[in-house]
Amino acid sequence: MKTEFGFELQVCQWAEQHWPPSGNDTPVVVARQLGTKHRRWDTVVLECNPDGLAARANFGSEALDSDLLHVVRNAPEEWAWYRDALPDPDYPWRYVREAVHRAADRGVVDRRQGSNGRIELRRKWHYPSWVTRIVAIENKPDLNASAARALAPQLERDVALGLADEVWVATRRTDGPVEPVLLEDVPVDAGILTVEEGNRGSGVAEVAWQPRSLAPVEPGTRIIERPDGGEFDDSACRFEVADADWKANKRLEIAERAYERGWRSYADSMRPDCRYFELAPKEAVARPACTAKDSHQTQRECSRSCPQFEPEPPTWRQHGWPIDGGPGKALKRLLARQRERERPE
Ligand code: SF4
Repeated sequence: MKTEFGFELQVCQWAEQHWPPSGNDTPVVVARQLGTKHRRWDTVVLECNPDGLAARANFGSEALDSDLLHVVRNAPEEWAWYRDALPDPDYPWRYVREAVHRAADRGVVDRRQGSNGRIELRRKWHYPSWVTRIVAIENKPDLNASAARALAPQLERDVALGLADEVWVATRRTDGPVEPVLLEDVPVDAGILTVEEGNRGSGVAEVAWQPRSLAPVEPGTRIIERPDGGEFDDSACRFEVADADWKANKRLEIAERAYERGWRSYADSMRPDCRYFELAPKEAVARPACTAKDSHQTQRECSRSCPQFEPEPPTWRQHGWPIDGGPGKALKRLLARQRERERPE
């Protein structure tokens, strides 16, 4: 069975190996299902500068959240009281102090108690500028005219906000040309990628329409509500301005989460500890499969509420158990190793 989830994994796998479509040799980090509170992108591609990416590795593979970023980006070269060293936050200082302790516990800044009992900190490394561009891809394998119309408002919001540098739609390649109606319904600013399902290689995805580069360093427009355009709808569009600082911080938070999670973290929310769970090797991408359902299950199906869930039999867990766990744990370790291997340095 072909699912949107499987298509999404294939797009991630292709992007990891072959992005950008122009063929430049740009290191990338690929993640899935990331964004803001109001908008989650299917696939996120970070185009990175190689030196910055190598320097980012100093801070470990876990994401730095906004509080930790505040600390590491502003930590001084020489010892200083944290309140003198860090910019005034727009929240209470006690949260900053907690973040200084968290950062020190993670080994990303130095911390000591000064002679007067004050907490002092010192930078270990300069936090690098490592992300050059953020590309958002919406995966719609079956992009017919009505799906394109349903997707259009979301893409228009993405374009107006300009949080990503580019917005794309990836869709399954068919034998015919891309229907002109799709090009009409999808905003002209969004790119279109057509993907040959079930295969691997650089030619598997082709550009059917080039996107316009957005302006993430400038203020954007957050569309809150828009009229549906019906005959009797004369309501006004409601929007607010997203300032450039908010966008810059949000981009960095998204990049940090992408760096930690990659696109193989789906196993964390599925049930690889179920006896029916498999990672089926496919030409295009290894995909979770369920032997009980004899199909590729979705993330939603393969969850705690699945009625067919059965734990791995104890005999599968004998050798390294309980330290190494059974096949489910081994599978998670395999995906984590792949994630590490593919994280460019
Ligand atoms: S039976 Fe349910 S929990 Fe087990 S692998 Fe299949 S979908 Fe996942």
